[in-house]
Amino acid sequence: MTTATAPLRIPMICPPDEAPAREQILVADPNPHSLRLLSNLLLRRGYRVICVRDGMEAWQEALDVLPDLIVVDTRMPTIDGFVLCDHLKSEPVTQSIPIIFMGGRDDVLTQVRAFESGGVDYLSRPFQMAEVMARIENQLSLRRLQKQLESQNELLRQEIQQRREVEQALQGANDEFQRLAHQDGLTEVANRRRFDQQLHQEWLRLTREQSPLSLLMCDIDFFKNYNDTYGHLEGDHCLQRVAGALREAVRRPADLVARYGGEEFAILMPNTDTSGAAVIAEQMRQQVAQLQILHEDSAIAHHVTISIGVATLQPVPNSEPAILITSADYALYRAKELGRNRVYILGDAGRSVSQC
Ligand code: GH3
Ligand code: MG
Ligand code: MG
Repeated sequence: MTTATAPLRIPMICPPDEAPAREQILVADPNPHSLRLLSNLLLRRGYRVICVRDGMEAWQEALDVLPDLIVVDTRMPTIDGFVLCDHLKSEPVTQSIPIIFMGGRDDVLTQVRAFESGGVDYLSRPFQMAEVMARIENQLSLRRLQKQLESQNELLRQEIQQRREVEQALQGANDEFQRLAHQDGLTEVANRRRFDQQLHQEWLRLTREQSPLSLLMCDIDFFKNYNDTYGHLEGDHCLQRVAGALREAVRRPADLVARYGGEEFAILMPNTDTSGAAVIAEQMRQQVAQLQILHEDSAIAHHVTISIGVATLQPVPNSEPAILITSADYALYRAKELGRNRVYILGDAGRSVSQC
């Protein structure tokens, strides 16, 4: 037996013209007579057949054409049927191709080994051709079903993947929608709706936790004059810069800077007592001043300034957060009344701090 011979594609019997090309079967048998017998039988049934006479050739052909079924003699030159089977099973592209072994009828140990090594059936010599065909066609139908299942699985996998992508896109769109629904379009800090929700939630949470909630109400001084002097567009730009400075001054993730309305901002600071809130408020006032936004028509400085009212409350059961807003509003009113560009702290014996 030689390993160099090209595989025999036995030409003598062709499938009937009208029959559609059926599955491709690789037959590996060192005995030319038996090889011809089996391949003619398969060709008559319309199958495409590749014939080889040694194990290495069978391995190369299997990798090349990926047949639908391999019928292989247990005993072959170069590599025997079992080694070939091991190779086929260890290669992802060939591992699902069914392998039928051929061997002696009485050789029970070989038959057992054939099944143990991954063979799906065993054809005993001498062949009963009707039985051989029945067994081969049985394996081919199983193979067809297996392929159908694989393609259905693939479709299903693709559908799941598509659904995942749609879900992700929807989630992204929803996140973006939520962000926009809760963000002030001009300044990109939280909007009034988000502030109201957060205030309500924190009020309830801190009632349970018995921890203080601070609110800073912050208003740009003489902003009407600013608009009148520099125009509404410059006014918008000023609002953006002030919002940025306020956002930079807060330190905890739970703190919330929101545009409360017009040129007024509200800063919610959970678990923060009066002194902590006062420190942040003063930093905010200073950071806005440091922006040095020219404001020639301010009665108190040459740059844009803010006034801040600070109120801190310990939420109690059956109370409303509106009281915190009223308190911070009042503190802001006092900061304005006392001359602007300052922080007024309510609840600390009405303390007013800082001004230029
Ligand atoms: P005070 O120091 O007492 O706060 O004086 P003020 O001029 O800042 O207060 P007032 O309430 O009289 O004016 C607020 C101005 O803020 C009037 C309004 O045109 C302006 N404003 C409110 N919202 C916007 C906005 O979105 N963009 C601009 N450019 N201006 C706004
Ligand atoms: Mg103002
Ligand atoms: Mg105002």
